[in-house]
Amino acid sequence: MNDNKGKLVLIVGPSGSGKGTIIKHLREKHPDWVYPVSYTTRAIRPGEEDGLVYHFISEKEFKQGVDDGRFLEYAIVHEKGYYGTDRAEIMSALEKGKMVVREIDIQGFHSIREVMPKDDLLTIFVEAGDLEELERRIADRGKLPEEEVERRMESARKEIAQADECDFRIKNEYGKIEEAVYEVDGIILGGL
Ligand code: 5GP
Repeated sequence: MNDNKGKLVLIVGPSGSGKGTIIKHLREKHPDWVYPVSYTTRAIRPGEEDGLVYHFISEKEFKQGVDDGRFLEYAIVHEKGYYGTDRAEIMSALEKGKMVVREIDIQGFHSIREVMPKDDLLTIFVEAGDLEELERRIADRGKLPEEEVERRMESARKEIAQADECDFRIKNEYGKIEEAVYEVDGIILGGL
């Protein structure tokens, strides 16, 4: 392994566990780290900005990206849309020795684990305080219909059952975001 290489930090965990919020805080604390922009076919939500966390593209463009090898991994998440990580952005940042932090679903984590050297990867599983709290957070997010909440809870249970496959596991309890960020930050810095 090239000693000057950074690490790819994958933040894994159910939808609603607060991965995005943790990363938002890390961006402020560590502007020198790289937060690669993924591609998705899901609709942009109010308050989201194209090109910050995601590039919002059509299914046709996404499939072209797959053919062009643009994604380090890609997956269909919540049967709702395609999500794919940008291979070029991630690899070039790692080559420059940068710390690269990206949230990803469990399928994406499994794919990347197959292609990345173990030493270059750090994986952190984030869960909410408990399942009731998670359900509340999912339900609050964009006022999702009941079936959609149930579908996400079902994926959450499956994801939590696989949490120990990650290097670290942390809880992001209600009202304790600072503690969660501190913990994730410590894990990443300790992994340097
Ligand atoms: P959301 O649509 O709520 O932003 O994200 C839905 C799910 O997609 C989350 O679990 C999130 O971690 C996951 N996700 C976000 N970006 C990627 C990506 O690039 N690849 C994969 N496989 N999953 C992603």
